[in-house]
Amino acid sequence: MKRQLITVISAMLIVTSISLTAPQHLATASPTPMPRVTFRIQTEDPVVFITIDDGSDMPADAQAVLERLQWPITSFVLPNYLRADPQWFTSLGSVNDIGSHTIRHTVLKRKSLAVQTEAICGGHSQVASLVQDSVPYFRPPTGLYDSTTLRAAASCGITDILLWRVSVNGRTITTWGGDIRAGDIILIHYVGSLAKSLRRVEKELKRLHLQPARLSDYLHSGTKKAAPQRR
Ligand SMILES: [Zn+2]
Repeated sequence: MKRQLITVISAMLIVTSISLTAPQHLATASPTPMPRVTFRIQTEDPVVFITIDDGSDMPADAQAVLERLQWPITSFVLPNYLRADPQWFTSLGSVNDIGSHTIRHTVLKRKSLAVQTEAICGGHSQVASLVQDSVPYFRPPTGLYDSTTLRAAASCGITDILLWRVSVNGRTITTWGGDIRAGDIILIHYVGSLAKSLRRVEKELKRLHLQPARLSDYLHSGTKKAAPQRR
């Protein structure tokens, strides 16, 4: 009886790829959960989320600004840049949650599942090997993705795909309409103008009475809707 049950369970595992941590749910098993795609956080709190991408430059003046501001940040970096000095990245701000951004900044939309899987899973695992507490968050380069991206990301344990509604480049703030608002995810880059961008954001947030918060604190629990099950 027991052996029979194990055989049935094994067969279902192959068919459904269901997580081994929840065998009691096998009867209602669903396929590997797709990552959630988030453009902004639904929250009543006066908070925004600072995200910084790529990593080609490590400007000392930006490091000093973040040291002064003590903002929590989330980064989506390329492993080759991160490899140059992982500690520089992890020491920024009050906390820097480091996610991934493919291996070589591949624009994924309309690429095959094999190409997307290699780019996403490779970037994710290399970042994880360089940073102890990296997060399973992913940002597609240029923001372009398709349904294949979700399948590829799911296959290597990405829980969240993070986009943005605001981008900042030096003195220029670009939004998808209107001012920066509570819940917005703000995109900046690790480039020479990073310090200038951060100071620009600081001034604007002061004017709008908003404060940066840690994205991971809000991603699954700060929403108005019931928080989805953690994966
Ligand atoms: Zn990028």
